Amino acid sequence: MNETTPDATPSNFIRHIIDADIESGKHQQVITRFPPEPNGYLHIGHAKSICLNFGIANDYDPATCHLRFDDTNPGKEKEEYITAIKEDVSWLGFNWGEELYHTSDYFDQLYAYAQQLIKQGKAYVDSLSADEIRQYRGNLTEAGENSPFRERSVEENLDLLEKMKQGGCAEGEHLLRAKIDMASANINMRDPAIYRIKHMAHPVTGDTWHIYPMYDFAHCVSDAIEGITHSLCTLEFEDHRPLYDWFLDQLGTPAHPQQIEFSRLNLNYTVMSKRKLHELVEGGFVNGWDDPRLPTLSGLRRRGYTASAIRDFCSRIGVTKKDNIIEMSVLENSLREDLDAKAPRALAVLDPIKLIIDNYPADQEEMLDGVNHPKKPEAGKRPIPFAKELYIERSDFMEDAPKKFFRLSQGREVRLRFAYYVTCTHVVKDEQGEVAEVHCTYDPATRGGKSEDGRKVKGTIHWVSVKHAVNAEVRLYDRLFSIPAPAAEKEKDYKDFINADSIKVLKNCQLEASLGAASTNAYQFERQGYFCLDSVDSRSDKLVFNRVVSLRDSWGNKK
Ligand code: ATP
Ligand code: MG
Repeated sequence: MNETTPDATPSNFIRHIIDADIESGKHQQVITRFPPEPNGYLHIGHAKSICLNFGIANDYDPATCHLRFDDTNPGKEKEEYITAIKEDVSWLGFNWGEELYHTSDYFDQLYAYAQQLIKQGKAYVDSLSADEIRQYRGNLTEAGENSPFRERSVEENLDLLEKMKQGGCAEGEHLLRAKIDMASANINMRDPAIYRIKHMAHPVTGDTWHIYPMYDFAHCVSDAIEGITHSLCTLEFEDHRPLYDWFLDQLGTPAHPQQIEFSRLNLNYTVMSKRKLHELVEGGFVNGWDDPRLPTLSGLRRRGYTASAIRDFCSRIGVTKKDNIIEMSVLENSLREDLDAKAPRALAVLDPIKLIIDNYPADQEEMLDGVNHPKKPEAGKRPIPFAKELYIERSDFMEDAPKKFFRLSQGREVRLRFAYYVTCTHVVKDEQGEVAEVHCTYDPATRGGKSEDGRKVKGTIHWVSVKHAVNAEVRLYDRLFSIPAPAAEKEKDYKDFINADSIKVLKNCQLEASLGAASTNAYQFERQGYFCLDSVDSRSDKLVFNRVVSLRDSWGNKK
């Protein structure tokens, strides 16, 4: 059903459980699911869950992974999110085939199960107010108290539930609750809610329903209906597992999936809760869900992250029960490794200053060979136009340079990448006294950047021909937050720690001519980092590139 596994996945404790279940004959086939609530865009944390669930489906045979939209909360859920989630899962390289489901597919069945619980004396309609319910619940040290409505008759409960369903009750007037144990040490077992009244139309079921099922009830029942074998979720659901099992035990569902918890992915220098992502997007702190600074999959994709880098990252961090925070640099290193292997090289000057070769004929031009990928000879070469006037990086020239400055300075010789040796002779300054032009002479005997007399130069700098260069805007991104754990701050709001330098826009960058026809994949701009066209703002007459990631991790040095 699924395509072959994109990467070899290391084993983990969940795979060990599955191996044992197959070995013992408990299961002949494995069915997992990825169950997003369509109330926002997916982030890198979801990628961990996607890679885990779909990865298992890819690696076991027979096995499948269902994509199930947990659409039980019509107020917050939108078609836009459903579309985006499907796009993200596909982009990550996973395929749900025919196995696409919605919790709303099971609304009738869920209702029938709720009626069954009532008939079994295991559920009742409560009519306490929300405040009263809170008071009756007790707390970690005190047992709760039974609601005065707990002993309603089966008939009364069934009638009330039907009335709730039909829209005959106000929101908050009643609640269907499981009848378990108000004194349980586990608060989740103190008569948890099953259905609440909500007068809201649903995108799929329209205005059929005036009640919607709670997550803890809907989730286990949906898993059971689909015959999920292993229901994998994050650790905060550990305390809900007794309830998951209780519902399925009472109902005697045909299947009883095993819930297994693993630790969620936390990354430093960012936030991942959907509530915070909503706040950042809706408050205009970032430019939409696909802002390249966000940890959303659409943001990472727009930034230039590859799906294979994200899968590699998920495989490296592994799956355990230990809570921890992963360094952003781990994600970035997976990306660098992937791009280093794949990205074609190009020359690009981000902060240009003119370099004039005084002894190069003004009417002359030539094509030099640029190596497309130093580690991949098969990637071949490309022609790069060379002429008398070039742009070089402003930082590659220094007037009163220290001895160890191996780039351009008066009297010093450097190699122009793929071109010639040049020696700086003098500079021309503008009215403010700033260097406006750097002048040099070239040695025609060093074509291709090699000298015939064996003379060596220490520095090699990149350049582009003024006449042939294409102009572009380049956006340099940095971490969205200036401290590692913005969400953990108690005194201040996490938004107070947004890094003011998280985006820097360079308007007048000069790129090698071939980049005028750049593909959407990332390039390595030599000596600068990895860059890719911005899929949203770039036009053929106004190129915009994003810096995907720098060549090295320089975050530590900067601080
Ligand atoms: P958030 O807590 O960010 O709002 P959520 O858990 O409410 O996310 P869902 O749409 O319910 O979002 O998540 C779908 C699946 O993704 C769930 O199974 C959930 O456990 C998993 N998931 C969400 N965040 C992470 C994370 N940071 N690491 C691993 N898995 C995650
Ligand atoms: Mg959730």
